[in-house]
Amino acid sequence: MYAMDTVMTLTAYGDNAEAAIAAAVEEIETLDETLRRGSETSEIYRINAERTAEVSDETAEIIADALEICADTDGAFDVTIAPVMDLWGFYTHEYHVPTTDELFETLARVNYENVEVRGNTVTVADGAELDLGGIAKGYLSDRITEIFADYGVESGIVSLGGNVQTIGTKPGGENWRVAIQDPDDTSSYLATITVADKAVVTSGGYQRNFTENGVTYHHIINPDTGYPAHSGVKSVTIVSESGTLADGLSTALFVMGLDKGTEYWREHGGFDVVFVTDEDEIYVTEGIADAVECRGAVNVIENMPQ
Ligand code: AMP
Ligand code: MG
Repeated sequence: MYAMDTVMTLTAYGDNAEAAIAAAVEEIETLDETLRRGSETSEIYRINAERTAEVSDETAEIIADALEICADTDGAFDVTIAPVMDLWGFYTHEYHVPTTDELFETLARVNYENVEVRGNTVTVADGAELDLGGIAKGYLSDRITEIFADYGVESGIVSLGGNVQTIGTKPGGENWRVAIQDPDDTSSYLATITVADKAVVTSGGYQRNFTENGVTYHHIINPDTGYPAHSGVKSVTIVSESGTLADGLSTALFVMGLDKGTEYWREHGGFDVVFVTDEDEIYVTEGIADAVECRGAVNVIENMPQ
């Protein structure tokens, strides 16, 4: 199926597989409509247009989760990036490389601290506008995991664009094998990770971009500069139990790059990372070092620097 601008595939095994998938598809359609920034009937649209709005428990919770990731990553993830995305034309696909003046003006509206969630009331101040694109699919994959559990599905795999969510193991008890795409040739892959009960989420500049005068501009923005993040990595894959966290951090660590991303991982933990650098080197945090397979060398990042 197609939702949130991406192709989604759902697989479930067991007695209730069909019913579980039907329920998951319904949830995808509902959340796609609730969270779609550009749809006049969505809750996000209403917040952005009315500056303060009453929203569902679920929307309030997603925004609160997003704000936590914004704060934890010191704004590398910023849920108010919308005006900058808009300026570059990523919403309309009418692309435009902004002038520094335009960027300067627009960046003044980007600051997650201008968003407040109080109960079911969400308020945005100082021209801030929400874009949940960096986290929505991760939240959705968490919801699908819950739905599969409600239906007693113990084995499944869901792919939502760059987000993969594994539920349990394969029907035979083996771990799932998830591929990490080659950023330079998406029909091929660089590595695989074998996991169970985990979200595997990849952010990469190759996933959405445009080229003007020979320069390629992608859709992951450094909130400090307003330009597409160039931190020395082609992709970042996060492995975590939480799809929401994995999604938010895949975007954030793409902005941070290898060194800052490693520092963040050492400080926070609770997830693992695969970095693919601009030089096509692969760096893997120690928690999943044994689970990653690739043709070339793998550099293992240890928790304490040696
Ligand atoms: P992802 O593919 O998960 O890395 O998310 C990329 C999407 O998140 C973009 O299409 C934007 O909608 C949004 N986005 C871009 N840059 C950021 C950022 N620095 N923080 C939060 N969201 C962002
Ligand atoms: Mg993300």
